[in-house]
Parts: sequence; structure tokens; C-alpha cells
Amino acid sequence: MRAAVLSRHDLDGLTVEETAAPVPGAGEVLVRVDTVGVNQLDLNVIAGIGPGAHARLPRILGMDPAGEIVAVGSGVAASRLGQTVVVKPNIACGVCARCLAGDEADCPAQTVVGVHRDGGAAELVVVPSRNAIDRRGLGAAEATAVVHSASIVVNAVRAIALAADERVLVTGAGGTLGRAAVAIASARGARVVAASRRPLHAIGDEQIITAADAAALTSALHGVDGFDVVLDVSGHAPTLAAGIGALRWGGRAVFCSASVDSELRIDSRDFYLRRKQLIGVASARYDDVVEALDLAAARALPSLVGARYPLDDIGRAYQEFPRKGEGKVVVDVR
Ligand SMILES: [Zn+2]
Repeated sequence: MRAAVLSRHDLDGLTVEETAAPVPGAGEVLVRVDTVGVNQLDLNVIAGIGPGAHARLPRILGMDPAGEIVAVGSGVAASRLGQTVVVKPNIACGVCARCLAGDEADCPAQTVVGVHRDGGAAELVVVPSRNAIDRRGLGAAEATAVVHSASIVVNAVRAIALAADERVLVTGAGGTLGRAAVAIASARGARVVAASRRPLHAIGDEQIITAADAAALTSALHGVDGFDVVLDVSGHAPTLAAGIGALRWGGRAVFCSASVDSELRIDSRDFYLRRKQLIGVASARYDDVVEALDLAAARALPSLVGARYPLDDIGRAYQEFPRKGEGKVVVDVR
């Protein structure tokens, strides 16, 4: 089978080559891949930094493939053959206290497809059967775009207990996660203000703020009656800080990306005296993924698919990814 194999920590160490097809073991399924997404985590694997440093090379990249189950290992029902699925990237350990309590998204021992094991930027991939989730009739590219991005937002909205009629500020609203965040918060009945660096088209009836940077956002929010919730998907710490500054008394902030900055500076006295809260959310539970796919299937999410590349051009997809505009970058494997 053809696969995108990383053999050293450098984009030049990535080649699309012929490799042996994997065989599903106990509790696993073999998926024939149609599409796979391009993610920040792939770039971390390529560079060998952060969470990507866990990858042992050579490694087939690709976290979030979508395709069809074409073989099953022992212990997996044969009825799953032919099912169209998308792969949840994070694999919970299933045995730790967090997993047993149902908080699989916060499992400290979770592993990731395309990082700790070979991924789906390949014609075939083997994953645990539970991680191959029915696509709800969604096309492969749409399911790939939803499975990681929208599921994290579903997790964040649940973690922050966003209620109908609450006033929520979504920062980083122009990206894939941001578009999902605006749609999901709106679907919850929240009153949404979407902030982005570039001009946006409204998805629903959200109010839009265009601000070139965090300072411009701070002044745009100046004098605004505080927000109940800030949902930051920008990955940009000064933007999150501006949002936290705009929270009302007792307001809650949640962020689900730290792709740009690792250091957050806030006014700790304001944070403390005004009883604000901040939580970080990474990955998603299995039921968050199902909910995100159901929202997409019900057309409650906008199309999240952006630029597309054939598998042979996956190196170019990774190279151009940091500059790509709206939507999830998708690689067509077949
Ligand atoms: Zn666990």
C-alpha cells in the first residue's frame, strides 16, 4: 500500500512510498482510507517537538482518517465489515481512574493515531474498533474535518456548561475550530459574538467583531457588558487574555488550543477579585465525537472542509498548512 512515511524529523524526511499493509489484531479493524486531515499535531511530529516528540520513526502520519472497514480482527463483529467510519484520533487507555469515571478525554495515558502508532495518511490503517466510529452518512472529507475539530469544541462547551441565553465570545472564530464553535454555541441557544482577525461571513445570527490583534480586540470589547463565557480557539495567548478581561463577574473561560503561545499573561487581581474561571480542554470523549458527527449530519455545522490535496502532494499540504485560510485541509488518499 502507499503511505506517507516520516523517517526523520524534517519535512524532507517525509516520503510517499510503498509499504507493507497492516493486519488488524484482536479488537482492531482495518480501514481502507479515503481522506485524512492535516493537523498542527502532524507538524509537531514532523518537527519532533511538543506532543509530537512521542512518535518513534519511521512513522506513518495522519490522525483522523475516514474510510471503510475492510477487515476485522478477533473479537470484532463481522457485521462491521463495509461500515463507513471516521477515526477518533485519541485512544483512551480504558483502565485508569479517569477512563473508569467516563472522563476519557482527560485520560493521562491516552495515545494518538499517527503519533504513538501508524496513522491514516495511507491506503490502509489499523485502529482499535471503538475508535472507528460510524460516519452517520457524512462524506469522508466532511467526517475527517469534523472528527477532531468539532469534537473538541463539543467537549469544551460541555466542560464549561454553556447554557441557553448565555452571552459567549468566540475568539479565533475564523478558523475551522472557530466556525465549529460558533455553530455549536448557537445550536445550544447561546448569544454568540464571534471575533476574528479577518472579516467573517456570519454562519447564523452571531454578532461579528473584526480585530487585527489582541490590542484591537481589547479596545473593541472595551465598555462591553461582560461575557458569561469566553471560548477561545485561537491558540493565541494575548487573544485569550483579552477575552478573559471581558468576562463578567464569575464568568468562565475555556480554551482548546495552545498552538501559538505557551505563556498566558492575565491580570491576576482582576481574575481573582471578579471570581473568574479558566479551564483547558484537549481531545474529546467518544460521545463528544458522536455528537459532533450527529450535528454535522443534521447540517447544524457549516461545511468545514477547506483546501484539498492528493496523497502524493501531502508534503506540500503540510508545508502550506500554516498559511491556509478557512476550513480543514484534507488529503484525498484514494
Ligand atoms: Zn485512561
